[in-house]
Amino acid sequence: MDSVASCPNCRGGNLFRSQPISAGGGYAPNYLPGLGGFFGAEKFEVVLCRDCGLTRFFARPQARERLAEAKKWTRISATS
Ligand SMILES: [Zn+2]
Repeated sequence: MDSVASCPNCRGGNLFRSQPISAGGGYAPNYLPGLGGFFGAEKFEVVLCRDCGLTRFFARPQARERLAEAKKWTRISATS
């Protein structure tokens, strides 16, 4: 995630970004299957809106680059 302009729910600008958080592991499902490296699950960056609480998960650039070759993901839109 490079930048996030405003909250899509309330249009507020009080957004906070977390440190990278594991997208799977232990007994939890892996929400980014096939996009991690050799050392475990890929990580999310979480953006939280202070005004309304909307929480969004963003895959990191290295995970997005792997999507085109990833077997566990199916493209559902042809638009860029
Ligand atoms: Zn908001």
